[in-house]
Amino acid sequence: MSSTLHVIGSLMVDRVLRVKSLPASGSTITASTATVHAGGKGANQAVAAARCGARVRMLGRTGSEGEFIVRDLAAAGVDTAHIATTDAVAGFAAVMVDDHGMNSIVIAPEANGRIGDADIDVFLAGAARGELLIMQNECSGLGHAVARAHERGLKTWLNAAPMGEAVCAIDLGTLSCLLVNEHELAALSGIDEPQAAVDRLARRWPVLDIVVTLGAAGWIARVDGAIVRGSAIAVEAIDTVGCGDAFVGALAALRSEGMPWTGALTRANAAGALAATVAGAIPSMPMREAIEALAQPH
Ligand code: ADP
Repeated sequence: MSSTLHVIGSLMVDRVLRVKSLPASGSTITASTATVHAGGKGANQAVAAARCGARVRMLGRTGSEGEFIVRDLAAAGVDTAHIATTDAVAGFAAVMVDDHGMNSIVIAPEANGRIGDADIDVFLAGAARGELLIMQNECSGLGHAVARAHERGLKTWLNAAPMGEAVCAIDLGTLSCLLVNEHELAALSGIDEPQAAVDRLARRWPVLDIVVTLGAAGWIARVDGAIVRGSAIAVEAIDTVGCGDAFVGALAALRSEGMPWTGALTRANAAGALAATVAGAIPSMPMREAIEALAQPH
């Protein structure tokens, strides 16, 4: 029987304002458009994994405003039975994007910050030993979930994004895999150069798999004790929002089905590139066929 992938993560109502340039402190400016999208790293990664072929269940909380995100998750095939929609205020992200593609983002976790330890216990009771759990740092209960998953013999993956105190409090030795971008890696290791930073973390946690995404420069990883790396695939990038989530979700799906690291990382790199070619987060999470087609050598 194939294994299930478990996600404890965020649902965010993304409100995106397009502006000529980002406002200076104290100023008021007019946006050309205001759009609302489904987002949140947890929801994005759950959809990415499901579209890549995994059986996915997710624990999360939102309010009535976030019900459309739960519908998107269900449409992608994610089991949403453990997502509550009863909170007064849904988590949301206020995103401003300027004409040069620069952005400023404010995240209000709201409902995502009210996931309780008891909710986590009930959710994890439905996971079998050896199955994979992915988490990010946009929800409450991270420390409890990592400790409980470790006790239950799950393979825990932490996408340490955004970096913050809750991440620093985690014993990385209880994780199976740490996934970060170059900024999170530098913050965690105190070193800017990615390979040296990975080496430092590996000296401290020798059996931890570490995967680092480097945007348009590709990725580097230390898996099963060896360093591997790859370049990004050249695509016409129009919006890189969600690239990291596409990479992480696809990688988790493929590892969960038993694919060796090299093949899984190559395909995750293709998933990240495909996400850069479509606007938005959830709408840009690619299907397995498209990932396979782009990952083939050509
Ligand atoms: P995050 O959004 O978490 O910072 P990254 O920007 O590192 O994540 O992107 C994640 C992955 O997506 C990269 O490792 C790469 O595989 C892919 N990717 C990101 N930007 C591009 C791009 N401009 N062209 C091709 N692939 C990209």
